[in-house]
Amino acid sequence: MSSNRDIDALIETMAKLPGLGPRSARRAVLHLIRKRALLLSPLAAQMQAVADTARECLNCGNIGSGDVCDICTSEARATGVLCVVEDVADLWAMERSGVFKGRYHVLGGTLSALDSIGPDELRIPRLVDRVKSEGVTEVILALNATIDGQTTAHYIADQLEGQVTLSSLAQGVPIGGELDYLDDGTITAALNARKPL
Ligand code: ZN
Repeated sequence: MSSNRDIDALIETMAKLPGLGPRSARRAVLHLIRKRALLLSPLAAQMQAVADTARECLNCGNIGSGDVCDICTSEARATGVLCVVEDVADLWAMERSGVFKGRYHVLGGTLSALDSIGPDELRIPRLVDRVKSEGVTEVILALNATIDGQTTAHYIADQLEGQVTLSSLAQGVPIGGELDYLDDGTITAALNARKPL
């Protein structure tokens, strides 16, 4: 407990962030207060701006600043190619690579019998609609290599069969990876996805 109720409230909220607990939250808040001009004031303004403007794109599920995000409206992005990801964080990861020039579709999770998440809880019906309405010819399934991720990929592949060219990200040895450090599943996936030289 500090001797300032606002500070206590801030620590309590910060402690709910992923990766932070009460101890890290206390240290972070103390650091912010000590760096008021450099960190605390800009952070407060930036958080307010994001709270005011961040919106979920009605088309793809990305987080942007209007009803439809910049990627969906960009003329520079290829129409006809959709990359399907589970979460906005995955979209950001793809964008950091700068390699993909098409558009995205964010599912908002994966199918999960355990958590009662079916196709209608995700943006799968919307994906099927987009394939038809946007004249999509290719769908890349960039889902996580987890059991739920792969179950979801197979379900989507069934829904879109015969309508588009479907592919998924390759699985295997990471760039710079050494075989000795890889787990059995990764080595098996890499061997199964081997390609001719
Ligand atoms: Zn969008």
